[in-house]
Amino acid sequence: MEIVRSQRQLAAAAAAASGGGSGAGGLPTYRVAPQLEVRLEEFELFAIDRLRVLKGISDGLSRGKRPEEMEKLVSELWKGHMRHQDPAETLNKDIISHFVLRLVYCRTEELRKWFLSMETTLFRYRFRLESPDTQRLLMSEFQLPYKALPHSEFEAVKDKLSQVARSIGQSASVESVFFKVPFEEVPDLVGSRRVFISKGYAYVAMSQVVSLVVTQFRCNISKALVLTNRKWTTSIKEQEKDRLTPIVEALSNAYFGPDYSQTSDSAEISPKDIDQLSRTSFPLCMRHMLEKLRENHHLKNGGRMQFGLFLKGAGLKLEDALAFFRAEFSQKVGSERFDKEYAYSIRHIYGKEGKRTDYTPYSCQKIIAATPGVGDHHGCPYRHFGEENLRAALNNMGISGNALEGILDKVKNRHYQLACTLTFEATHNVSCDTGINHPNQYFSESQKVLQAKNQTVQSQSST
Ligand code: SF4
Repeated sequence: MEIVRSQRQLAAAAAAASGGGSGAGGLPTYRVAPQLEVRLEEFELFAIDRLRVLKGISDGLSRGKRPEEMEKLVSELWKGHMRHQDPAETLNKDIISHFVLRLVYCRTEELRKWFLSMETTLFRYRFRLESPDTQRLLMSEFQLPYKALPHSEFEAVKDKLSQVARSIGQSASVESVFFKVPFEEVPDLVGSRRVFISKGYAYVAMSQVVSLVVTQFRCNISKALVLTNRKWTTSIKEQEKDRLTPIVEALSNAYFGPDYSQTSDSAEISPKDIDQLSRTSFPLCMRHMLEKLRENHHLKNGGRMQFGLFLKGAGLKLEDALAFFRAEFSQKVGSERFDKEYAYSIRHIYGKEGKRTDYTPYSCQKIIAATPGVGDHHGCPYRHFGEENLRAALNNMGISGNALEGILDKVKNRHYQLACTLTFEATHNVSCDTGINHPNQYFSESQKVLQAKNQTVQSQSST
């Protein structure tokens, strides 16, 4: 792909012209990168939309959603972020965004693994939504060497196929199109005993060919990611260091929600509310820092930034922030030293010093990626606490039993934001389908839930 600032041709047409990959029924196989021009803005915006889909899939999988639920989720995510009124534009966006993210996610083993897994899941569910005719076309695009079972052979094994169908809870009236495949090529079907096997061959029904196609798709993308990484390190990274490289590097760590830099007037908070709000509505990272600030009357720079920006986003005005931090720090260093050495950093957070940047509160992604040193209290407790400390901190929030074990389980699998989401759900007794992505989102969602509960209590007591 060539990246330009204007003009472009449709990726679908370009992919078709370059020998494949535009896909039957609107589902591309991404075998060949299209030769086309892409506007720089589209390069980034399309990738962000696709990432929203992949991140949604990742959340769904880590929440343990069932296949039917995943099918619905994938379809909604796709519709919400990738569809365009014009199907050609949708296809165009689909192809461009895939190849941009390939560049973003080819760069480390961990990124490759995540991308491969999410793209494969996306493909699997999109394939399942296609008609049998389109599925057959896609099979031929992948050049799978399987032919439908001839009628005579089908008749010979029909009873066996019917038995397998019954054993997996399907209607005994057997589908009429089957493919005979070396059994090692469909390990998931063999492992879950969903196919009839004879003489080393598995008899794969048309409704099961997704397994064959997905195996091939996964294999192609896996190889392509390794090749892309090679090209990235040997040439693209250096050639594009002023233009694409910064975008590519930022995309793998991007946070796409609101930045919480502005608070509405109604969302103002005052220093006297902070302890109470911490108990009801602060996420664990911010509760922890308040506790340490109260205990040590001090926070190092990383903590002042993370906590100070959070309070700013929650609605604490500059004068109140100065009064709040002065009241604590002066107990340790005296108010004169606070004014001389620390007040600057608080004003800096509010964009009143230095370059006067109006800093935005940190997202979970940024906090999780931090590396707090000795004596630091910033970072994400789900990521940076040991198990015992985390257990104790969650107990302090009133979480125990299955809910606690569920959260620790997510932490073990490194799903820190999901662990935080489960904490939110356990402490507020509501579900949070969007997931927690930002400490200020946690705070504002919590306030909404509590206000709604208060209103219900008030309206009940007035009747
Ligand atoms: Fe804070 Fe986000 Fe970690 Fe929750 S997941 S504790 S909000 S950084």
